[in-house]
Amino acid sequence: MVGTDQDAVGIRLASVERQFWVDRDVALHLAEEWLAEFGDADFGATGRRLQVLIAGVRIHRADPSKSAIDVQQILGWAQQHGEVALQSRCHDVLGSLFEMVGDPASALEHAVAANDLLSDSEVPLMRAAARKCLADALGSAGSLDEARRRYDDALRLVIDDPDTNIRYIILNNLAFTEHLAHNNDEALEAVERLVGLSQLSDRQIGMSARDTIARVYMAAGRLEEAETMLLPAMNPVFGDAHPDSSAAALVALTELYREQGRLGKAQTAIDRCRDLAHRNGLIRRTTEVAREQAEVHAANSDYRAAFEAFRDYHEKYEALGASENEARGRILEAMFQTAESRRESERYRELAERDPLTGLHNRRFVDEHLGAALMALREGGLPLAIAMIDLDHFKRINDTLSHEVGDEVLRALGRILIDAAKAVPDAIAARLGGEEFLLILPATDAETAHANFEGLCRTIAEFDWTPITGDLPVTASIGVALAPDDGIQSSDLMRAADVRLYVAKRDGRNRVVHSAIIARSAKDSADEHPVSVGQFAEDAIGIVV
Ligand code: GH3
Ligand code: MG
Ligand code: MG
Repeated sequence: MVGTDQDAVGIRLASVERQFWVDRDVALHLAEEWLAEFGDADFGATGRRLQVLIAGVRIHRADPSKSAIDVQQILGWAQQHGEVALQSRCHDVLGSLFEMVGDPASALEHAVAANDLLSDSEVPLMRAAARKCLADALGSAGSLDEARRRYDDALRLVIDDPDTNIRYIILNNLAFTEHLAHNNDEALEAVERLVGLSQLSDRQIGMSARDTIARVYMAAGRLEEAETMLLPAMNPVFGDAHPDSSAAALVALTELYREQGRLGKAQTAIDRCRDLAHRNGLIRRTTEVAREQAEVHAANSDYRAAFEAFRDYHEKYEALGASENEARGRILEAMFQTAESRRESERYRELAERDPLTGLHNRRFVDEHLGAALMALREGGLPLAIAMIDLDHFKRINDTLSHEVGDEVLRALGRILIDAAKAVPDAIAARLGGEEFLLILPATDAETAHANFEGLCRTIAEFDWTPITGDLPVTASIGVALAPDDGIQSSDLMRAADVRLYVAKRDGRNRVVHSAIIARSAKDSADEHPVSVGQFAEDAIGIVV
């Protein structure tokens, strides 16, 4: 894809993600429309960003357990593909999900990850969203000071962003957090900033913010302002557009009227709320309004009706507890199942990186892991040794005995290499192909490599092969390379080891050829090891050590 195409995709993606904070219905529509354009093509990280956005809208609407599965799977993909921005967005949604199921510890864990994985080059809106997520989780976990600091951070990031509703949401959540902690002054301060902001930018305050604001006013005894804030909920136009938050606001309005002794108005609000909750299947609101009904009957001194209403409320309350617990259970189960299936796919991945004959790692695994080990070395890690091991005259075994016997020899060599790898933490034994193997010993210097590989060569030669090959001996030739001495790129190391393997074959087989450095020092100190002097031979075929 050319740069300009990528830029265009980036711009379009940013604008869809931005819509989430302007109008979620529009965001949902745009994301679905774009996904449809992908058709059957693999939609990569971009399509998955859209899917996470859709899940983020849906967790508050449809079945959250479905979104939980989707987002966890996408997170697994993002981790495998190193898509950090996508990971951050997944953690953000998972944080909200755990918040919903009342698990503040997990919510916090995800919110922290959402922030940690966010790059500084992300647009301020996304950074503010992640801060808000963290602040919500901190507030629920009871760390109020920490929550306040993150809400402030978030606000600062979007202070000049008049088109989205994120500032209102941040202030709303701050006010609500303070309200729940019974910090009336702080809650009131947040509410006043929220009201001020809406007047300044001439924007209508949304219904759920109205509920928060009114409750803060009520706690401060400012009942008239609370009523003004809640009255729009009586308007059917608002109610039908935002049924849940309108029903919540109507419950607050009922409480307010009851406190003021305006019982007729309270009953009107109850009737309106009951109807709205019923029509939209809002079980929680139906329960809350049943409680209000009982209170209003009691305030009217109609104790018989109050008794009936209380009984109705208790039944609904218990059913609500059960259904909310069930929903919670469904989400948690979904999360658990995807964690299971990820472990399963890790197992398949593990299999794909193994050689079926010997069970050793394969070349693909070596390519990945040698690269990573060398990266660690470049970042100040310890030296590393590799040995390329090739059986001598293996063809003879196949030809004089059988291919099956050959296979048995390969399996036995595999076991010897696994034992050799066990002696060094994080060592890797691999079959590169045919009768060629590789041993990688991390954190191993030249002397240790020398001792290890000489030992390995002897072990192979001295192994009791008679049950497998009869009279035919089995030996191997080994070429060693060291990082950083022979290079810090996989290709340089592999080439150096390969060249020394060739030298070992040429010099008579059943031997190890080390790097010139160790070969020289070993020769100087003693001639007790059957070390080929690699220096001359390697120079002769053009390898500079
Ligand atoms: P050298 O000492 O020079 O390495 O001689 P060699 O006979 O070991 O090497 P050569 O490369 O000539 O032959 C390797 C043989 O290994 C040829 C091939 O048939 C055999 N081979 C490769 N893969 C397998 C396998 O999976 N099973 C068996 N039984 N044989 C294999
Ligand atoms: Mg061979
Ligand atoms: Mg070979």
